[in-house]
Amino acid sequence: MKALDELTFDNRFARLGDAFSAHILPEPIDDPRLVVASLAAMALLDLDPAVADSPEFAELFSGHKLWADAVPRAMVYSGHQFGSYNPQLGDGRGLLLGEVYNQAGDHWDLHLKGAGQTPFSRMGDGRAVLRSSIREFLASEALHALHIPSTRALCVIGSSTTVWREKQERAAMVLRLAPSHVRFGHFEYFYYTKKPEQHQALAEHVLAMHFPECREQPQPYLAMFRQIVERNAELIAKWQAYGFCHGVMNTDNMSILGITFDFGPFAFLDDFDANFICNHSDDQGRYSFSNQVPIGQWNLSALAQALTPYISVEDLQETLGLYLPLFQAHYLDLMRRRLGLTSAEDDDQKLVEQLLQLMQNSGVDYTLFFRRLGDQAPDQAVAQLRDDFVDIKGFDAWAALYLARVAREGDLDQDQRRTRMHAVNPLYILRNYLAQKAIDAAESGDYSEVRRLHAVLSNPFEEQPGMASYAERPPEWGKHLEISCSS
Ligand code: AMP
Ligand code: MG
Repeated sequence: MKALDELTFDNRFARLGDAFSAHILPEPIDDPRLVVASLAAMALLDLDPAVADSPEFAELFSGHKLWADAVPRAMVYSGHQFGSYNPQLGDGRGLLLGEVYNQAGDHWDLHLKGAGQTPFSRMGDGRAVLRSSIREFLASEALHALHIPSTRALCVIGSSTTVWREKQERAAMVLRLAPSHVRFGHFEYFYYTKKPEQHQALAEHVLAMHFPECREQPQPYLAMFRQIVERNAELIAKWQAYGFCHGVMNTDNMSILGITFDFGPFAFLDDFDANFICNHSDDQGRYSFSNQVPIGQWNLSALAQALTPYISVEDLQETLGLYLPLFQAHYLDLMRRRLGLTSAEDDDQKLVEQLLQLMQNSGVDYTLFFRRLGDQAPDQAVAQLRDDFVDIKGFDAWAALYLARVAREGDLDQDQRRTRMHAVNPLYILRNYLAQKAIDAAESGDYSEVRRLHAVLSNPFEEQPGMASYAERPPEWGKHLEISCSS
């Protein structure tokens, strides 16, 4: 276990030089105070849990103090936003403080979001508000607990500094952890600005740091692109299987590691709705829930374009062609498991699609349906769940297919089935209304709710005593909360 001043830094990205990032010091926020910390994330840095409560912790993660070995940098990148190319993005309000090594030899980027203006801030104030910092923190740690790859969050630090959004709000900072902060947009930036030397240096850096095994391949860049396609196909399969809607799948928000990245107006589905648009600013529904699948491919094509100096168009196209089949295979595998199936049959895809259509028509809760399906023996479970469907005849027809399908798997022990299904079907998810309640309390200075919610979501598959209310469907006020890009 380490004290805060024992972290070891090695700033490899900073060493790439000024063409890749600008050296900027964090601009502190006033009266820093700990809102919430993730002990699990602290463990990734070998940090002693006790340090979270020290004044130094709040000072370090609010820009008041800095390690002597940290070299804070604002990264430059560009990207496609809502389908249009934006030539200059970059870290407008976040800084890569440095890369920390833990005892196991893993390295973690420490990224402080809300750390003030940078050369890439454009018209922005360089700040993040408490509300969006809490949402990023909770989502990062909740996704991780659901086994969905994501950036992690170490803590949120609140302040008395005021910032203006649609109204006056308090500034905060969130400390994000990831093995890399390189986005698709990094490659796009050097491709479109026609800087072949830097472009290649970036590619070599990413290859060496994050895809070392690809260097053994005859075409290392192609092997790397293939891995990026595979990881993103698997990631988006997990989003779709668990009802996670990212909200702003711009290419600057896509990680080369295939981890969920840059949280804004995200949402987990309450009722199943394939057409759900979680981002209030997304008028066209470009990033609706079901569009995430083709948008994943669109974004990978944007990355492919930026890799044309190294890889032939034929090879890029062939590799892009792997995305959809890989997505479908992962998705179907997850959905089979969510249904409690242990074998594969040709018609399983249809079984899933029919169920989702029925859920869509009746507005059935996407999380609780699967949880309850495992609670009891299959015939008893479907008999109970039937009441949630408006189209009872339709549901009965589906249930008959499902029960026959389960029967073909042979004898089953309900205790084992429940354990198996509950291990993949969470009871608790980060519903927007739960996040909102925690945010409302935190905005009035009470951090107990955000801490409790974080604790519940850290263990989403296990029923926790006294926490039944966290598994409930949203109340009327919490069903259609409007979450915008403003953060
Ligand atoms: P995001 O929507 O958070 O992915 O941000 C898109 C771009 O806008 C990135 O380049 C951000 O750094 C920048 N940005 C967002 N909010 C701010 C802000 N308050 N101040 C400066 N830059 C910002
Ligand atoms: Mg972003």
